[in-house]
Amino acid sequence: MGKVRVLPESDTPRKLSEFVVVDSLECLVNFARSSKRFRGALRDTLDEGSVFEQFKDLLKAEFLDSLSASNARKIRLRLSSLAVCLAFSSDIQSWAIDMGLLKLVAAIYDASPPQEASNQSQRRMVPAFRCNIVLLRLLVSDSTAEKLCAHKALSKFRPHRRKIDDADPECNLWDFFEKRLRGVTFKADRPQFSDEDWRSVEEDCGGLVLARVVCSWKGCAAGREPAVGEGFRKCGRCHVARYCSKEHQKLHWTTHKVHCKDHRANEGTL
Ligand SMILES: [Zn+2]
Ligand SMILES: [Zn+2]
Repeated sequence: MGKVRVLPESDTPRKLSEFVVVDSLECLVNFARSSKRFRGALRDTLDEGSVFEQFKDLLKAEFLDSLSASNARKIRLRLSSLAVCLAFSSDIQSWAIDMGLLKLVAAIYDASPPQEASNQSQRRMVPAFRCNIVLLRLLVSDSTAEKLCAHKALSKFRPHRRKIDDADPECNLWDFFEKRLRGVTFKADRPQFSDEDWRSVEEDCGGLVLARVVCSWKGCAAGREPAVGEGFRKCGRCHVARYCSKEHQKLHWTTHKVHCKDHRANEGTL
């Protein structure tokens, strides 16, 4: 792959330079997402630690400010999609971390305007939110979490913790990130997303459209369980009912005991 070259602004019609950068980034992301072979080629040809440096150049204020607002936004968005794609591809994720993926993600946070309040579906289109998805994904396995530590991810992202939390206020990602990398919270604790959950997140490049469960007791006002951190516990007998608290589990038991038995009968564990 050739180098990503920012065309000089002065002697190039602005429209053309923007077109070249924005569209080639889109192609790159699409190839990287859909083709394992392409990812392999990236890995094999880009062994100088410079590729993410070049992407970072696209996020420099002087360049972004020279673009139309919509193209500046597209560049941030495409680069965040690329980061998601690399973080989600197990064949290339650890290579990407070694190559400077974290620096790219930090640069995206840096270049993102402070987050205005938005709903879940709008959030998926926010670069900082997608970067959160990258961090979340890399915390899942011990091997990538260890790599994050080796690359000093805590100090790299601490300056961005405001943006990290503002991008998804219910998630408390920074707290989880810190605990996980300090070894306070372990892999088994959370986030326990199914493969299906991750696939849907990957598909729209963000969006915690994860099925966050609600408490099984009908009178509960706790809402959905948090996306990371402590999730709602399962009924120890049937593993189907979920509770925000021991109190609600007790309150639910009078009606649940019948269903609990049914669930267990269905599972053959009775
Ligand atoms: Zn409850
Ligand atoms: Zn039960």
